[in-house]
Amino acid sequence: MKKRLDIRNIAIIAHVDHGKTTLVDELLKQSGTFRENEQVNERAMDNNDIEKERGITILAKNTAVNYEDKRINIMDTPGHADFGGEVERILKMVDGVLLVVDAYEGCMPQTRFVLKKALEQKLTPVVVVNKIDRPAARPEEVVDEVLDLFIELGADEQQLDFPVVYASAINGTASETPDQTDGTMKVIFDTIIESVPAPIDNSEEPFQFQVTMLDYNDYLGRIGIGRVFRGTIRKGDQAAVIHRDGSVKKFRVSKLFGYLGLKRLEIEEAKAGDLIAIAGIEDINVGETICPVDNIDPMELVRIDEPTLQMTF
Ligand code: GDP
Repeated sequence: MKKRLDIRNIAIIAHVDHGKTTLVDELLKQSGTFRENEQVNERAMDNNDIEKERGITILAKNTAVNYEDKRINIMDTPGHADFGGEVERILKMVDGVLLVVDAYEGCMPQTRFVLKKALEQKLTPVVVVNKIDRPAARPEEVVDEVLDLFIELGADEQQLDFPVVYASAINGTASETPDQTDGTMKVIFDTIIESVPAPIDNSEEPFQFQVTMLDYNDYLGRIGIGRVFRGTIRKGDQAAVIHRDGSVKKFRVSKLFGYLGLKRLEIEEAKAGDLIAIAGIEDINVGETICPVDNIDPMELVRIDEPTLQMTF
């Protein structure tokens, strides 16, 4: 089976405040995705106003980092149980998860909530025990707690064999052992590349894409964000959208985007395994499938339950 060895798709999951934003900021800085004179002046995942106010991550963000000759797409996940549908959809886009756990606090309710969903979807986990610089950190105990939680949540044998990285995101360091804090975050990149499966490269098959999230801007209108599950799509292609009610509408792909750093960049072509955004469909919605006009093949519908809940914020 051919694989896209040039990319890895992961989601980052954690209880609130365990440090996923700090960690992703640091991965961005250290990956060299930014040129030296460019600053990460926007925090990777907390750039929504409501989120800032509440200090929690509500809307998922896609961050992409280049590491050596590879691209790692990192999807953020909302940790809050009210966003179960969104978490499920995001986890469908990735092949592995980075589970961040505070070295002092250990496993918390949101750790359990998102990990359960990740394990159910058979994703490959990488555990990051973060904040090992904290004076009261108890990293070894926390790893035991994480293992217990994996067992309790029904992890399979492969998942139970999870790699562990010890990190101090705030200091930009990580290592394979808890007593060593100097260095860089290199071990996190290497562990992701080694452990998380590369996407299957079936880019010769008919195109299939599912909208996981929506974005909007005044110029482009609605933008569907998701994963290319198979095939290849090019800007200008004629394609079809299968709406939730089963109706099919043709459209032309007016713009295609990939991600780099925190930015969305225009691209000409995307292939199986890529996480992209597609513009050009007026009434596109979450869960809907995009496919070639001559190969109408809807993907299984996904849970959508958060829009009403978002109204309460
Ligand atoms: P998120 O809610 O998971 O995105 O967490 P943040 O990245 O916003 O971090 C929450 C708090 O923990 C912030 O005050 C960070 O500065 C702090 N923090 C993050 N990583 C570390 C770390 O490695 N060590 C220590 N001591 N604090 C950290």
